[in-house]
Amino acid sequence: MIIVMNADATDKQIKTVDSRLQELGFKTILNQGDVMTVIAAIGDKRLIETESLESMDGVKQILPIREPYKMASRETHPHDTVITFDNGVKIGGNHNFAVMAGPCSIEENPDHLLRIAEVVKQSGAQFLRGGAFKPRTSPYDFQGLEEEGLRQLADVRDKTGLLVVTEVMDSQEVPLVAQYADILQVGTRNMQNFKLLKAVGRQNKPVMLKRGMSATVREFLLAAEHILYQGNEQVILCERGIRGYDSTFTRNVLDLAIVPVLKRLSHLPVIVDPSHATGHRYLVPPMANAAVFAGAHGLMLEVHYDPDKALSDGAQSLNLEQYAAVMRTLNKVTAFYQQEVAQAECLIKA
Ligand code: PEP
Ligand code: MN
Repeated sequence: MIIVMNADATDKQIKTVDSRLQELGFKTILNQGDVMTVIAAIGDKRLIETESLESMDGVKQILPIREPYKMASRETHPHDTVITFDNGVKIGGNHNFAVMAGPCSIEENPDHLLRIAEVVKQSGAQFLRGGAFKPRTSPYDFQGLEEEGLRQLADVRDKTGLLVVTEVMDSQEVPLVAQYADILQVGTRNMQNFKLLKAVGRQNKPVMLKRGMSATVREFLLAAEHILYQGNEQVILCERGIRGYDSTFTRNVLDLAIVPVLKRLSHLPVIVDPSHATGHRYLVPPMANAAVFAGAHGLMLEVHYDPDKALSDGAQSLNLEQYAAVMRTLNKVTAFYQQEVAQAECLIKA
């Protein structure tokens, strides 16, 4: 439920209501706005008689939370979540466009990763992505360098200052991956691995949750809810394409409309991965630009030193020159979007 406080409620009254809810076993989220304060209380409503709450000093009204994803919902948290990293980089909200780029898998040669990272950084990205634990469809495909890959990532972070995004596949491996990563990625195949969601929810690094390849919006937000419910409020949603009926020309169907839908329903940052969504590098630039215009807070792009020799996802990976060219355009496109488009779109209410 949502407890709407009177516009002139005092800090003491707000705190008393908040403490009472916590005593009763509710998780509370306090939203102190300029005009008024609302407290979202998540838990079992049977624990309390709402009349007793309604009569507390400073309380104006009690409303039910309609959405099943209570903590992910904008109802309980009207303002955009902005995730801030130690070096000042931000994801979410306005004017913080995040780019995560790098190879699908970390491979043997650390010099190649460093070279990719240097180009990634020069062109204005803030994050280096790379898989060390790889969820491969076939057991005969490259399965990733595991901890050795994580070490390479951390080493390149030290040399470049880029933040590191890497996938964790198993709840047992969360502490290990969290030791090296700045953002823990949960992949499409694990979007409903509830043990993993709970485990990443219990640690304090941001989590990038990729949409399950056949997940509905509601399932996606409920997966995020599992992480939030464990106490980790730093969740980034990533649209990476869903299964369609024709994969002849595109690996998946990039569901760009989900970006404004998610932004309407939730306060969490939303990014788009046009590499996995399309499966072909020539489709990455147009879909990356389109993602900006859909209102995404960022992008994830696969970039390889020599894509023809990549051990995974070479066909969708950009080489270094292609990547730099894509970023030159994207920098202009994001500036144009932020200056001209974002405000105009606010005029049409969802
Ligand atoms: C990846 O990012 O390399 C990856 C495996 O992504 P997804 O889970 O979206 O397939
Ligand atoms: Mn990949």
